[in-house]
Amino acid sequence: MIKKLRQIVSKVADARELETALRLVVSGVKDALLADACAVYLIDPSDERLVLGETEGLDRASIGVVRLAVGTGVVSLVREQREVVRSEEVSLHPRFKLFPVTGESQFRAFIGAPIIHRGDVIGVLAIWRKGYRSFDDRDEAFLATAAVQLSGALAGAIVTPASIRLGRSHSPGETYRQGIAGAPGVAIGEVMLPSPLADLSAVPDRRAIDITVEETAFLDAVASVQAQILQSSERMQDILPSESHALFEVYAMLAGDESLTSRVVERIHSGSWAPAALRDTVQELCLQFNEMADERLKERAEDIRAVGRKLLLALRTDQLTPKSFPKRTVLVGDEVSLARIAEVPQDQLAGIVCLKGSVLSHTVVIARSLGIPAVMGLGDISAEGLAGRHVIIDGYMGRVFIDPPPSIVSEYSRFESEERLLATELDNLSDLPTITSDGVRVVLDVNTGLASDIDSGLKVGAEGVGLYRSEFPFMLRQSFPTETEQCAIYRRMLAAFSPRPVVMRTLDIGGDKPLPYFPIDQTNSLLGWRGIRVMLQHPELFLVQLKAMLRANAQYGNLHLLLPMVSTTEEVRDSRAILEQAIDSLRREGIAVKRPPLGIMVEVPIVLFILESLAAEVDFLSVGSNDLTQYLTAVDRGNANVAHLYDPLAPGVLKALHSVVKQANDLSKPVSLCGDLAADPASALLLLGMGFVHLSMAAPMVPRVKKTLRSFSQRRASELFELALELPDGAAVRTMLNRVFEEEGIGGLVRAGR
Ligand code: PEP
Ligand code: MG
Repeated sequence: MIKKLRQIVSKVADARELETALRLVVSGVKDALLADACAVYLIDPSDERLVLGETEGLDRASIGVVRLAVGTGVVSLVREQREVVRSEEVSLHPRFKLFPVTGESQFRAFIGAPIIHRGDVIGVLAIWRKGYRSFDDRDEAFLATAAVQLSGALAGAIVTPASIRLGRSHSPGETYRQGIAGAPGVAIGEVMLPSPLADLSAVPDRRAIDITVEETAFLDAVASVQAQILQSSERMQDILPSESHALFEVYAMLAGDESLTSRVVERIHSGSWAPAALRDTVQELCLQFNEMADERLKERAEDIRAVGRKLLLALRTDQLTPKSFPKRTVLVGDEVSLARIAEVPQDQLAGIVCLKGSVLSHTVVIARSLGIPAVMGLGDISAEGLAGRHVIIDGYMGRVFIDPPPSIVSEYSRFESEERLLATELDNLSDLPTITSDGVRVVLDVNTGLASDIDSGLKVGAEGVGLYRSEFPFMLRQSFPTETEQCAIYRRMLAAFSPRPVVMRTLDIGGDKPLPYFPIDQTNSLLGWRGIRVMLQHPELFLVQLKAMLRANAQYGNLHLLLPMVSTTEEVRDSRAILEQAIDSLRREGIAVKRPPLGIMVEVPIVLFILESLAAEVDFLSVGSNDLTQYLTAVDRGNANVAHLYDPLAPGVLKALHSVVKQANDLSKPVSLCGDLAADPASALLLLGMGFVHLSMAAPMVPRVKKTLRSFSQRRASELFELALELPDGAAVRTMLNRVFEEEGIGGLVRAGR
């Protein structure tokens, strides 16, 4: 049974259209349970009725016609009670209502199971039998499990105009879609989908104009992908573990595999253009692998998809790549990667919307560093349906307005110009120090990673770099940069800020920051191989990075080293040993190397309880409030399903942060905070209140934070912090702080407008 269910679920997950997904559900479930009829009903949000979406066994003429209001029929009862309803003789059920159009009168036994997605009923999955064969407990368990497992796939499969008819796209009466506030700011712009290139499912159907041209293009793509993979493989030979290296060979082999190439060519000969022929062949092969019993062969489906994406990239990109971006581009996608953001000219990028992802995903970090408003976790809406449409993004409230009416456009145009005005006013603060009204001096640094962060950091008058995320340049490449390449990148950063200190964090990959060319296969990536854990098990990568940083620093001497994800003193000692090795090796080359101060990120909760022994090993501490909050609250930073539980202002988290700063002060160990909490003016005020006087944040946020800290005394900030600890949750803290900002006449620092 479980095998059958798995097969249905994986087929549905691969379906590109809602109709196909629904058809696969009803036929799969009907066959598996030997039912005489199966149907899926979905809720149409425009009138809240359950609409018959697909059936086998009921009259197909009733699809889209039967619309059940609350209170009508047994199917509706399933929805209302949010639980399974089973009946041996459904026509005798008190809630039975006959819909002659469906032909239901011929059936006796019935089971209906609710389809629930993120807490909301989105539909009902129902089965019927004729005659005297009733359903048993196993049938009921199967149906209920199928409904649970299919909910995600059905909610995600909404991509065609027909599904918009079913109502789960943006509906005309809706003023805005609520997502999660990612990066502050407002933007009015036009939607662009970032990556049709690498997304096979986004390839449209098209007839081949010239079959020979299509075939040649495809075969050229195969050759170039194979060459590219083998090249990367050679480059990786010395620095990758052998199991990752083997993957390259598998990819190269798959790209040229006869079963793939001959089927694509066949489809091209039947008249399809190459990208769609590739798309359908990859899908077909994936289905075949998914159906295999051997788990390892099943995993091959993922490899085929990866190779398919590479081939698609190598195909004639001119037909898929947008030739130009709108003047005010809003990138919309399930997730929007750094590489995709980098495709858009910076002065044309107005905003970013991710349908998945949450407030701590890496896209948010990048958006903040670029000063671009972003909304995350917008949910079940078709990205394709949004292409080319006009949107307004409110990054403070997490709202996206789609094709907004003129009244909203004019309101937000006003906000936009007020924000520009405010920005000009705040620009004047760049040369002034950050001193509270009672004379406490606060150091404001910038977080960097992208090359563009240098200019923006210098422009806002940063006192140094509090966090350089060294993984960013790695994320933009196709392979590990060499020591010489890394050295050039680091030298630029150190030179630009010299003599101000630059805190460079060693590679923090894994978790939410995967490298495309260094696949880490683990089921629980946030608790697995991440940050320092990867580097200590790959001393060859670690050594190259440390040598590149030290070599770059020889001329400037402003480097500080920071280790991410540390949870034991042993990790610090082992890291120090590799650092010594790097120093020795450079000295042997005759380079005068200075030993840089070494610090750790405080972002794993256990560190709070062993801070004294850890602090004895290092020169400084830097609090990563993003990860610390994630691990304290057990909320995956990239998962929209649990985003509502992520609450960095929750009194519990505030107490933890307070404990760090207090312990550090007692130990006389310098401490700063470089998580995104520092970038939020209201939160920065609380951080000051609990004792932090050194913060680091995305450059575009420095002026707002500086203005905030100059507007209050530390005494008042401490009072507000004490008050916050008394409040029930982060939302109450936020409301209290917003009110205080409005009373001070600086509400524009924490919301749209001035
Ligand atoms: C953090 O965890 O707060 C942090 C600054 O690091 P990152 O967001 O890069 O994990
Ligand atoms: Mg972190």
